[in-house]
Amino acid sequence: MQESSFSGKTDTRVGVLGAGQLGKMMALAAGNWHLPLYFLDKSPDMPAVRFGAGFTEGDFQSYEDVYRFGKTVDLLTIEIEHVNIAALKQLEAEGLPIHPTPAVLEMIKDKGLQKTFYRVEALPTAPFRLYDDAAAIRAGLERGDIVLPFVQKSRSEGYDGKGVQIVRTAADLLRLMDTPSVVEQLVDIDKELAVIVARTPSGDIKAYPPVEMSFHPEANLVEFLLCPARIDASTAREASDLAIKLAQAMKITGLLAVELFLDKQGNLLINEVAPRPHNSGHHTIESCPTSQFEQHLRAILNWPLGDTSLRVPAAAMINVLGAADASGEATYEGLAEVLQTPAAAIHLYGKDTVKPFRKMGHITLTANSVAEVVEKARAIEGKLQAIAKK
Ligand code: ADP
Repeated sequence: MQESSFSGKTDTRVGVLGAGQLGKMMALAAGNWHLPLYFLDKSPDMPAVRFGAGFTEGDFQSYEDVYRFGKTVDLLTIEIEHVNIAALKQLEAEGLPIHPTPAVLEMIKDKGLQKTFYRVEALPTAPFRLYDDAAAIRAGLERGDIVLPFVQKSRSEGYDGKGVQIVRTAADLLRLMDTPSVVEQLVDIDKELAVIVARTPSGDIKAYPPVEMSFHPEANLVEFLLCPARIDASTAREASDLAIKLAQAMKITGLLAVELFLDKQGNLLINEVAPRPHNSGHHTIESCPTSQFEQHLRAILNWPLGDTSLRVPAAAMINVLGAADASGEATYEGLAEVLQTPAAAIHLYGKDTVKPFRKMGHITLTANSVAEVVEKARAIEGKLQAIAKK
C-alpha cells in the first residue's frame, strides 16, 4: 500500500466517458463513498445517468464534446474505448489526469498495435501478420507467408459490424474483409479465460482470480462465466502473473481486463485487452470483498487497492439478453422465478429498448462449489429474458 500517495480526498469530480451499464455499476460503487461521478453520453436515457452526480449530453467521439466535458471535471476515465483520443491528448497536455491514458487507449483501439505491443514485450500471443487489405492477404497466402486456416481481425472496430472471422477454406477467402487486418494463426483452444488486474498510478497492482468463459456444448456461444476457472493451480497462477506483467508493461492506470486462450497443449496466449471494467468481472460485486467497479475507482484515484480474493467458493455470471425476436420497449419475462432462486443476484441495466441479443442485465449466482454453481447456472439459463412490451 502506498500511504504517501493517498490524498484522502473524497470529492474529486470524476468524469466518465460513456453512461452505459459499466458506468452505472461504477456510479453505484462510488455511492458508498459519496464520490461524485459525471457522465458524458448521447442520451439522458442511458443506464448510468440517474446514478451520477451530473450528466452532459454529447458524443464521446466528438473532439469538442469531450474537450468541453473534460474541462468541467478533476479526473477523467472511460467505460468504453471508442472515444475521441485527440481531445484526451489535448486535455492531458493541459494537465488533466486521464486513466487510462490516451496513449494506452490509442494502442488498444488498434488490434494491430496491440498485437505488436505483445510481440515487442515478448508476451505470449498467437503468431500474426498485418495486412492493409484483402488483396494483400491473398498475396501473402500465395507467397506462403500465411496458411489456411487463419483468423482475420479488422484492426479497428466497426467494419460492417463484424470484425473477426475464421477463414478455413478457399471459398472463405471470397468473404475476406477488405480492411487493414491482423491475420492470426487459428489457436486450438481448450478454454477461454479472463483475468482482471488493477494498477494505481503509484504502481500498486492486484489481480482477480481467473474467470472461465463456459461455452454452450452445442450452440458454441458463451453460456455463462465461471469463477474460479476450472484450471489447475499452476495455470491459474501463470494466468494472473501474465496479466500483471502485461498491466505493468502497459503502465496501465485503472483496470485492465485481459482475455486469454489456454490451448490444448497447455499454453497461455494473450488474445486482447480492455482498459476498463469488463463483463468478465461482474461477479465480483457479489463474490469478492472489492468489486471491479470499486477497484477501478480506487485505482484511478490512487487509493489503496481492495481485496480481490473470492469470498465464496464459486460464482457464475449469466448475461440477460434481448430475446432473438425482441424489438421495442423492454419488459422482463421470468423475473419472479429468478427472484425466488437462492443466492441469485439480478442486475437490470434499465435500457428502455430491447433488441435481439442486446445485453439488458445479468445474474450472478454463488454456491459452495464449482459443480454446484454450474448446475445452478444451467438450471436458470434462459429463464430471465428481455422481451418487447405487447
Ligand atoms: P472481439 O474483439 O470481437 O471480442 P476476439 O479477438 O476476442 O474479438 O475474438 C472473438 C472470438 O473469436 C474469441 O473469443 C475466440 O472464440 C475466437 N478467436 C479469436 N481469435 C482466435 C484465434 N486466433 N484462434 C481461435 N479462435 C479465435
